[in-house]
Amino acid sequence: MFDLKGKKGLILGIANTHSIAYGCAKAFTQAGAEIGMTYGRDKTRTYVEPIAEELNADFLKQCDVSNDDAMEDLFAYIRDSWGRIDFVLHSIAFAPRDDLHGPVINSSREGFTMAMDISCHSFARTARLARPLMTDGGSLLTVSYYGGEKVVDHYSIMGPVKAALESTTRYLAAELGEDGISVNALSPGPILTRASSGIKEFDHLADEAIEHSPEHRLVTIEEVGAYAAFLVSDGARSITGDVCYVDAGRHIML
Ligand code: NAD
Repeated sequence: MFDLKGKKGLILGIANTHSIAYGCAKAFTQAGAEIGMTYGRDKTRTYVEPIAEELNADFLKQCDVSNDDAMEDLFAYIRDSWGRIDFVLHSIAFAPRDDLHGPVINSSREGFTMAMDISCHSFARTARLARPLMTDGGSLLTVSYYGGEKVVDHYSIMGPVKAALESTTRYLAAELGEDGISVNALSPGPILTRASSGIKEFDHLADEAIEHSPEHRLVTIEEVGAYAAFLVSDGARSITGDVCYVDAGRHIML
């Protein structure tokens, strides 16, 4: 593992022990990082509290990323308690069910806008708030999916949203490079989580990934976590603006 001792990181997007963010948070703490965590909705708290205890998180706060005041309060708290921050993992996505289950051509303006705001623009807002606290440089990570690059059956409006998220990653990387802040997007293959269970025919998407990936298997949140821990380590300082696949090689195949 990579040495993250002395680093402090914020994890946005743990819902439960199946979450990709949980796999990453575990890897960060195993490598010696101190973490703080947030959860989106009140009813998630019961699942997230034991995780915060298990990982010895410095803090656990509610933060709906569509609420600007909550975001400002979160980063003000980090400034007052930690004084700085080394990395942030943004592992958040949302789209209204009707829009997610229909073709893009039928998506509602409200649903598309909401999905883009919560799943993409919130990463730019996170970067803006984290930047002044990354006094020694830092690392920002988000989580994308291959459906943003190629058309994947039933991925629907999350396809254009992830395409925008990957482009946002590149622009933020260009804008923050002089501050020594790297910005990357992990792109894991399909993993059964609460968010992915909302995708129509997710089982089919997972079967397709197994069939067409060179390794013929699904990836785990621990494997995604290992890559995330590397990306926030000093060893990855020169890697920025990238989409970093953790998909058993699926993206190289037709
Ligand atoms: P998950 O349900 O465990 O995590 C999604 C998180 O987003 C939850 O913690 C939820 O509370 C949070 N969230 C949604 N709206 C929010 C809001 N307004 N404010 C704050 N938090 C909010 O599912 P996951 O699969 O771990 O998803 C994490 C990320 O990984 C997402 O961006 C998803 O698109 C991406 N991803 C998932 C897969 C997969 O197959 N599971 C593959 C590639 C990428």
